[in-house]
This record gives sequence, structure tokens and C-alpha cells, in this order.
Amino acid sequence: MTNMAQARPRVGITRCSRLGDYVESIKKAGGSPIVLDYDADPGRVIDAIDGLVLTGGVDVDPSRYGESPHPATEIDDARDAFEFGIAERALARDLPVLAICRGMQLLNVAAGGDLVQDIPSQFSTPLDHTVDSSPDAVAHKVRIERGSLLARIVTNPAHLETCGVNSRHHQSVRRVAPGFSVSATSPDGVIEGIESRDASFCVGVQWHPENFHRTGEFDSLFESFVDACKRDRD
Ligand code: MN
Repeated sequence: MTNMAQARPRVGITRCSRLGDYVESIKKAGGSPIVLDYDADPGRVIDAIDGLVLTGGVDVDPSRYGESPHPATEIDDARDAFEFGIAERALARDLPVLAICRGMQLLNVAAGGDLVQDIPSQFSTPLDHTVDSSPDAVAHKVRIERGSLLARIVTNPAHLETCGVNSRHHQSVRRVAPGFSVSATSPDGVIEGIESRDASFCVGVQWHPENFHRTGEFDSLFESFVDACKRDRD
């Protein structure tokens, strides 16, 4: 016998300042959201979830990839400690991961890559990646890599492998972690999506798909992730 509570996979979402849209996106896709606080024990939490959403927020401590902080870099030690703990465990177990903005940066560092610490001062681009006028305002396009998991999930054939995305980040992935590939790039060359080549579902995006749950542009991304969480649980 089954019931709805059993049918919905448990999706851990790391706490952040704009939590509401992550929770709504996971609910809409059929998952049961569980908000994860930074004082929790990652070793216990990992047993209580079927998938992990790493959310947006401040910057990863650059010492995690052997650099000292740029003046524009903001760090939260408690958050890093918890999120690296849970991300490393999720990678080791092949637990489904959807990593968004800071989450994608953290995932890349946890897997052995590094970051551009400050796009405006370290990366030559005519694009503004810090557009905060409205959470779902389209800031720029991304080109989605043919053959990637992301392309199979989100590409609308009418848009020829590009899609419009929002953008609220001053950092980005620089050296992609071993075992990962670039799945999306903005026209200026900023890496906007990565995915593990080996994992069942381990996808990072630099934009904020959760802000589109009212209009549904990225519903398929959350649905694919929640489906992977169901498979992992069963
Ligand atoms: Mn961007």
C-alpha cells in the first residue's frame, strides 16, 4: 500500500535568504521539501533525504581552492562547513543533486574545481550578471551544450539550444571539476551550467530557475531532478 507521503521523495534544501521559491519549485515538481539548517550533522542529514538542492547565497571561502579572498568576496563559515559536508557525502553516494548559483560554485569546488572570484574585476565581459530588478527578469541568454543532460531536460526546440535566464552572481566556475562537463555558457564565455558525467543526476546552474515556478519555464528541470530522487529512493 502506498500513500502520498511515501510517493513524494524527501528533498533537502539548504537554508538561504530567498527560500520560498526553492520550496515552491520542489513542491510543484512532486517533492517533499526539507529545509536543512547549517548546525545539522551532515552525516545524519544525508540518511534522511532522497536528493539535495544546494541554494544561492554568499561566496565559497576561496581557501577551499587555495586562494586568498578578493576584496569583493563574502564568506559564511558555518554555511560552508555544513554545505561542503553534505555535498561531499552526496557526491560519494551518487545522491541526486541540483545545485543553483552559489550551490553550483560550491559543488564545483567540492568536486575539485575552482572559481572566478569577481567577474566585474577579473573577467572581461559586456554583460551584466548582477541584474536584481525582478527575480525572474531575463538578464542574458545561455547556450546549452548539445548532448548534455541539461539539453535533454530544458531545451525548447523552438529556441535552438539557447534560453533566456536571470542572473544574480558576481562569481562563476573557472576550472571545471574533474568528472564534470560544461553544460551551459553565456555569450561572453561565463560558465552557466555544469554536470557530472558519471552521476545519475548531478546538475549545477548559475542562474535561478526556482524564480520561474509561477510561469513554468524551468519546471522540467525540477521535475527531472525529483524523478531522479524517486529512483534513488526506490
Ligand atoms: Mn549570468
